[in-house]
Amino acid sequence: MALSQGIAATSPLLACPLCSVPVHLVSLAHERRFYFRHETEDGRCPAKTKGDLSEERILAMKYDGARESVAHKRMKDIIAESLRLDPDFSDVKVEAIWKGEEANGHRKPDVRATWKGTLPVAFEVQLSTTFLRVIAARREFYLREGGLLFWVFNRFDMANVRLTMEDVFYNNNRNAFIANEETLTASKEAGKLVLDCVWSEPSVEEGILLWSQKEGHVSFSDLTIDRERQRVFFFDADTARERCEAITKDWPLRRDFREFWLSRSAGYDDPKWLNLRKRIAEHGISLPRWPNDAEGLVSLLDTLYSAAEGHPVGWGYKNLVEIAHHVFARHKGHLWPFKLMLAAHNRGEQIRKEDTTGNWRNKKVKAYREAWTAPTQNGAADFIPDRNFDGLVCFLFPEIANRLPENPS
Ligand SMILES: [Zn+2]
Repeated sequence: MALSQGIAATSPLLACPLCSVPVHLVSLAHERRFYFRHETEDGRCPAKTKGDLSEERILAMKYDGARESVAHKRMKDIIAESLRLDPDFSDVKVEAIWKGEEANGHRKPDVRATWKGTLPVAFEVQLSTTFLRVIAARREFYLREGGLLFWVFNRFDMANVRLTMEDVFYNNNRNAFIANEETLTASKEAGKLVLDCVWSEPSVEEGILLWSQKEGHVSFSDLTIDRERQRVFFFDADTARERCEAITKDWPLRRDFREFWLSRSAGYDDPKWLNLRKRIAEHGISLPRWPNDAEGLVSLLDTLYSAAEGHPVGWGYKNLVEIAHHVFARHKGHLWPFKLMLAAHNRGEQIRKEDTTGNWRNKKVKAYREAWTAPTQNGAADFIPDRNFDGLVCFLFPEIANRLPENPS
């Protein structure tokens, strides 16, 4: 996309070393291997980069049947009708000329409309192949024009997706939008434009980043508009990926630390501790020579690993609620990370079951919440979170790293 958009903006990023003609990337027809192709090939260069099928020929084959254009027309009508129901959109037009400023030429988007009176949006339907070159040129045009290009598909299945659809998908923060008869019905019910959104969501399992496909109805006001990069998305996949990559990067150390801690009751392994201590120090976190040297460290980690595992780790107690009572009695400063861990690992139901007397839920939870909201109250100071190990806890338990620094009130 960068190469093609550079060519469209007459500032190409790469050129052929033999003839200096700008190049863009294309894929082989039958496998996903990429090579550079001359933007124009007129025989001046000994390197031949164009195949037998010209774009014109491919397009001619593509528009072979009338069926395609009927489907295309129906898509435009669905989008236009949905837009006219939406009070946030005005000036809805089908196939109207969008005249460029200066000598930028013009475009004829499938449907155009103005979002909240200020942002002109071009809705382009993609039913089959649209060349990356065309996609890039349109992005460049609408970027210059102060507008926004919005691609709409009639279906999008990640397992069976064409390369040209991926060009749109990956350049749009892994979000794709779909309009069909079903979304038209949903738009009528909602009184605004409703589309189906397909997006990819990352997760980390055993230190490996996995992507899964999600899908759901969205309205335009649910979306984030990033006009500078001509992106519109519901789920921010880039940010989620960064978060996951931070987790996978340090996963081996986190795994080794957990293994060490969980097997500690079977025998303390000092060389292992020293090794972990050294590796963690590389992250700017210092651990004591012996785990017991730091006041409260052992009980804190036992408590948090217990919450993560769902059963007592290190403690002689028989379940989580007994640990909770102990933390309340002896380590009030650890209640905040403990509570976050229970929430992050969905232990609410388990605690409720273990809390047969209701003593935890009705008395202790109430007490620490009150102390957190009124920290000047008598005795409330004891409940102020102990921040001595926040760096270590954030590292070992990234699932609570975002919220741990917050004030619990
Ligand atoms: Zn060349």
